[in-house]
Amino acid sequence: MRWTRLLPFACSLALLLTAVRVVTADDIAERARHLHFSSIVLDTHDDTTQRFFSKAGFDMAQRHTDGHIDIPRMREGGMNAIFFSIWIDGRIMGPPAVQKAIDQIDAVHQMVRKNPKDLVFCRTAAEVREAHKQGRIAVLMGVEGGHMIGNDVRVLRTFGALGVRYMTLSHFYNDEWADSSTDKPAHNGLTDFGKDIVREMNRQGIMVDISHVSDKTFYDALEVSKTPLIASHSSCRALCNHVRDMSDDMIKALAANGGVIQINYERSFIDQAYKDAFDKISGGVVEAMNKVTRDCGTDDDCRSRKIQELQSSAEKSGRLPPVSWQRIIDHIDHAVKLVGADHVGLGSDFDGATMPTGMEDCTKLPKITEALMRKGYSDDDLRKILGGNLLRVMEATERVSREMQTAH
Ligand SMILES: [Zn+2]
Repeated sequence: MRWTRLLPFACSLALLLTAVRVVTADDIAERARHLHFSSIVLDTHDDTTQRFFSKAGFDMAQRHTDGHIDIPRMREGGMNAIFFSIWIDGRIMGPPAVQKAIDQIDAVHQMVRKNPKDLVFCRTAAEVREAHKQGRIAVLMGVEGGHMIGNDVRVLRTFGALGVRYMTLSHFYNDEWADSSTDKPAHNGLTDFGKDIVREMNRQGIMVDISHVSDKTFYDALEVSKTPLIASHSSCRALCNHVRDMSDDMIKALAANGGVIQINYERSFIDQAYKDAFDKISGGVVEAMNKVTRDCGTDDDCRSRKIQELQSSAEKSGRLPPVSWQRIIDHIDHAVKLVGADHVGLGSDFDGATMPTGMEDCTKLPKITEALMRKGYSDDDLRKILGGNLLRVMEATERVSREMQTAH
């Protein structure tokens, strides 16, 4: 046989070898890094505001050894779009809550002004995309808890004008018009005023966030809202039966309406064994919070210190099991299998929650992209999960807002 007759066979073999090489582990690591660092990586819930708002001298431009977020670590982890949470304890209502919200909104704007090379304040999805093109981190704001508008729709509109782009309808306690998942039902979901608030949020282009709310509040909001809803920081109840998480039925209803669930990394929301053990030693999340409040009142530093002390002493003594960062992947994958990759994203709860082992701070984020790529997720789906889905909901919210404002 002449050797040239072997040529097609040799070529096929070479192609086959190339194909095999493409899927080796090292190539996936490299591809995942490239995809991660060229994508918009957007996190919808970070409590870092409490650090730069209440701690004099806290500098976002410096690398810290505590907490989860600062500019150097965001750069290292490729996190380039972030919603800072505006929050005060849900039992503080009326004018003091409004004042605290405005103080924190101002603190976010001042912090961005102090770091113009790295940060840019964004009000629209287009501005987030532009910030990414410029290599700057997009800063956005969400108000965590409807109690912060002081029952006054004018305050809500003012928040919108100041750049707030989502509001969580309630926090840990019921507010005057929405039931929380961690309180006794008082309103059977949303009151009529609460429904008006949702409509006004639509009109102002403020995304409706259903993390923290009771199941009935979620279904009421879903019925009233003209825009898709977001869960800014919630995980899947099917994997960890916590009231703060969403049931499969809720995730399906959210997705059917075009919304997105942004997965929370908090240990007790993602790992059933940890949640059960935590409930056993603390009497459950509600009792744990009540005890901390009895000890600390409204001193937030004292409250977070007490919770951390309880958790770390229980972990050291083996009463709380370790939780791996891989649980985050399980929750993302569960939601994707349930409703598809168009309806899932990232809502870490950094600086407000206890992170699982392996996700100690935002520098670890590239691991999520790599783990999902190893599961066979396409580049397209990964970019959606990393930030594209949330930007789609933001754009839909902007569109509805424009339509409603021109209609009146
Ligand atoms: Zn929260």
